Amino acid sequence: DARSPDRLRSPIVCILGHVDTGKTKILDKIRKTNVQDGEAGGITQQIGATFFPLDAVKRETSKLALGRALEHNIPALLIIDTPGHESFTNLRSRGSSLCDIAILVVDIMHGLEPQTMESIELLKQRKTPFIVALNKVDRLYDWKAKPMTPVIEALPAQKRHVQDEFKRRLAETKVAFAELGFNSEVYWENDDVRGQVSLVPTSAISGEGIPDLLYLLVSLTQNLMRDRLMWTTHVECTVLEVKMIEGLGTTIDVILTGGTLKEGDTIVVCGLDGAIVTTVRALLTPHPMKEMRVKGQFLRHGSIEAAQGIKISADGLDRAVAGTQLLITEDGGSEEELDLLRDEVMKDFATILTAVDKSGLGVYVQASTLGSLEALLSFLKSSNIPVAGLNIGPVHKKDIVKASTMLERKKKEYATVLAFDVPVEREARELAEELDMRIFTADIIYHLFDQFTAYMDDIRE
Ligand code: GDP
Ligand code: MG
Repeated sequence: DARSPDRLRSPIVCILGHVDTGKTKILDKIRKTNVQDGEAGGITQQIGATFFPLDAVKRETSKLALGRALEHNIPALLIIDTPGHESFTNLRSRGSSLCDIAILVVDIMHGLEPQTMESIELLKQRKTPFIVALNKVDRLYDWKAKPMTPVIEALPAQKRHVQDEFKRRLAETKVAFAELGFNSEVYWENDDVRGQVSLVPTSAISGEGIPDLLYLLVSLTQNLMRDRLMWTTHVECTVLEVKMIEGLGTTIDVILTGGTLKEGDTIVVCGLDGAIVTTVRALLTPHPMKEMRVKGQFLRHGSIEAAQGIKISADGLDRAVAGTQLLITEDGGSEEELDLLRDEVMKDFATILTAVDKSGLGVYVQASTLGSLEALLSFLKSSNIPVAGLNIGPVHKKDIVKASTMLERKKKEYATVLAFDVPVEREARELAEELDMRIFTADIIYHLFDQFTAYMDDIRE
């Protein structure tokens, strides 16, 4: 595959962190930045992501002395929309993270919280570089808002005691990171960006630090990740979500990070019952402006280049697995080539099946995507909770039937479904009640764990 050293693709940025730290708000603020200035600035909503062109970044960072020196080589930032670690765990391809850089959001008033740790664990596993938004600086007592101002200007403009409180909380945060094995430093004093995590004080309400955040994302990605971001003709694509759309049937939302996808391409994706080989019927993106007059929900494209978020319409996608890679054949595909691709897309799934306990005793786990299932399995493994069965997608009656075999084996505590970030169908719930089995649901892994361990203690007493 041809690589172009002079042409870089847009980096993929994820936002993660504890609930209520301001992940959604920061994304909103970044997105609305230029809209508030009366210019749309080319910021567009994509499938699963927001496309933030460099012109818009330039405008923002021009307020920043540092920003003026910034040379722009990447075309845009592609910021993944659904914040939270669920979406982050989705973003994998060939065992590594598809996300090039992450923003870990920490509430400066709360410091590091349980889900912050979970996020850091994921970032470590995926070897994803990250910067920290120390958010909610406006909550420091007596903070005077300096809307959308670089924080290196907003901070010195605060009263002495505000600056003192900031310094105290900053020092505490640095200690907390050090305890986790990370050196960290406010970004303007960080002279070792490879060895130390950069901290950016932000307010998602008044916008201090948002220009700084954008500046850092651009400078770090294009300076440290040139190789990774080099444009290539080789198709690299990840399935984010499997979605029913009225009039289209089951579609997949993908992030294309390399090469070009075309209508009529033969694609191969991981399926719950084996690999799916199908033909792209349509490549869809949302309309740039959501006017009432436009017909249909989506724009159709003959071909699309990386990096982009795309909805793919094709036959046979009902049992596709989110969080896996999508492969294409170059020429319609010989049977031999297709067999190789089938094996390749099913690899991650096959690896996951090895997590099932050989004794056949254990809980039944279910999650929304391959990535989230994997995260749950690795957590259960480290907690010594055996797993006897697993599935991806909503909990159906047949999942309860499978989990109920633990009742026959006199292991009531294991006759349990741990459902991570998936809905439970009514029939499944009814059957579980009938059999006096528990279904634990949560969208945070450690909540599932807490519920289950409490239940297990209860039963064993
Ligand atoms: P998420 O759960 O991480 O996505 O958090 P949200 O973005 O939903 O924010 C949680 C709450 O914190 C909301 O009420 C926000 O308005 C508030 N919030 C977020 N960022 C800030 C901030 O910088 N300053 C203040 N004062 N409040 C914030
Ligand atoms: Mg949110």
